[in-house]
Amino acid sequence: MNNIYVTQPFLPPLDEFNEYMKQIWTSKWLTNGGQFHEEFENALCDYLGVKNVCLFNNGTLALIIALKALRITGEVITTPFSFVATTHSLWWNNIKPVFADIDRETFNIDPEKIEDAITPQTTGIMPVHVYGNPCDVKAIQEIADIYNLKVIYDAAHAFGVTLNDESVLNFGDLSVISFHATKVLNTFEGGAIICHDKKMKRHIDDLKNFGFRDETTIVAPGINAKMNEIQAAFGMLQLKYVDEAIDRRKAIAEIYRENLINIEGIYFQNDLPGIRQSYTYFPILIDEKKYGKSRDELYEYLKAHNIFGRRYFYPLISNLSTYKGLKSSAPRNLPVANDVAERVICLPLYPDLKKNEIEWIIDSIYMGNRVVSDRKQHLGIS
Ligand SMILES: *Cc1c(COP(=O)(O)O)cnc(C)c1O
Repeated sequence: MNNIYVTQPFLPPLDEFNEYMKQIWTSKWLTNGGQFHEEFENALCDYLGVKNVCLFNNGTLALIIALKALRITGEVITTPFSFVATTHSLWWNNIKPVFADIDRETFNIDPEKIEDAITPQTTGIMPVHVYGNPCDVKAIQEIADIYNLKVIYDAAHAFGVTLNDESVLNFGDLSVISFHATKVLNTFEGGAIICHDKKMKRHIDDLKNFGFRDETTIVAPGINAKMNEIQAAFGMLQLKYVDEAIDRRKAIAEIYRENLINIEGIYFQNDLPGIRQSYTYFPILIDEKKYGKSRDELYEYLKAHNIFGRRYFYPLISNLSTYKGLKSSAPRNLPVANDVAERVICLPLYPDLKKNEIEWIIDSIYMGNRVVSDRKQHLGIS
């Protein structure tokens, strides 16, 4: 068996991409808001069902600029169970992250824990739609309204996710998505901010391009975080294939669920009611007592069988050296997040994953538990 990694980027046919490249070679317009940049922004508005899209060269800079655009300062309440970029974007804005624990079912920030974490310095909430499962957007907005807080969703996993047929990206003040190579739709690297009105879009567009309005008008101390034409052209091409890619991801997730349900001590998430998922990840939780191996033992066992799952999200952000000194990082403040981070593995999930590879992964998880229980039986231990 060849090595099977947690993900593999989806790549459209190269000759189709060459057609786009020819246009760029002819126009010699490589960046600074060209034709493809505009086309991709408009196409994303249509596809996602959102009003305004501001393209970025990656999701992390989009998060950093989103916080700047809303002039967020002081403290922001966020989740420790995410990719590090969520909290790093606060650090880069000199904002103090305040961690709140997560919900045991969705692994998203628990709205009840948000209220406890509010102080006079709190100005915003940065939740994450972890693995594409929408947060409790209604409860979060209610808290934000009462305390006059801004809400920025890290929606890096939520491309194409809808909640009762409405894009999950329409909630909160701003949402940020990522087009990194590992995400459902990739532009090699890339990202975007979704916002509600044209004025905010213009402000964000200023901030991502040095504050340039025209040749001599510089309205803000902006940075350089814009998407280039090659990324945008690639995004246009990817959009043609993304529904197919999501369908394929869904089919694989269903095979996993049908089979893993029979293995004791292995848990997975089901789709939440009213949600269209994009199946960015397939996380499983391991109950060591029931399964017979710890998470790390299974992780190593799978590696020995050429299966390279990833322990997303471990270590927990609140346990990293940069953040662990914060009061809110204390493990007793975050029992659920610490528990999930110790027990999770994301299994390989990508459109080109083959049937025999999926079977190999499922069989290996099945055998991983047999080996231990058979040996115990052999040794006469129950
Ligand atoms: C991928 C990701 C990002 C940002 O990603 P970039 O690689 O900078 O595009 C941010 N937050 C989460 C939760 C992510 O998974």
